[in-house]
Amino acid sequence: MVDIADQASLVEQSLLEAALRNSKQNTETIKPTGYCLYCGDPVEGDLRWCSVECRDDYERDQKLKNM
Ligand SMILES: [Zn+2]
Repeated sequence: MVDIADQASLVEQSLLEAALRNSKQNTETIKPTGYCLYCGDPVEGDLRWCSVECRDDYERDQKLKNM
């Protein structure tokens, strides 16, 4: 006999993992340009944002665009 509660949590888990993989891929495929992707300030090395705030705002904007 299959435990339905166990199955449901398995499905939830794999959906969550897929969502996490997707959001990771989305930001990792963006190439660093030397400038903050959000505000355009120059950044060093292969950084893509000048601050955590810019990265969070950028990712929030991306999510809104995809809705
Ligand atoms: Zn910035």
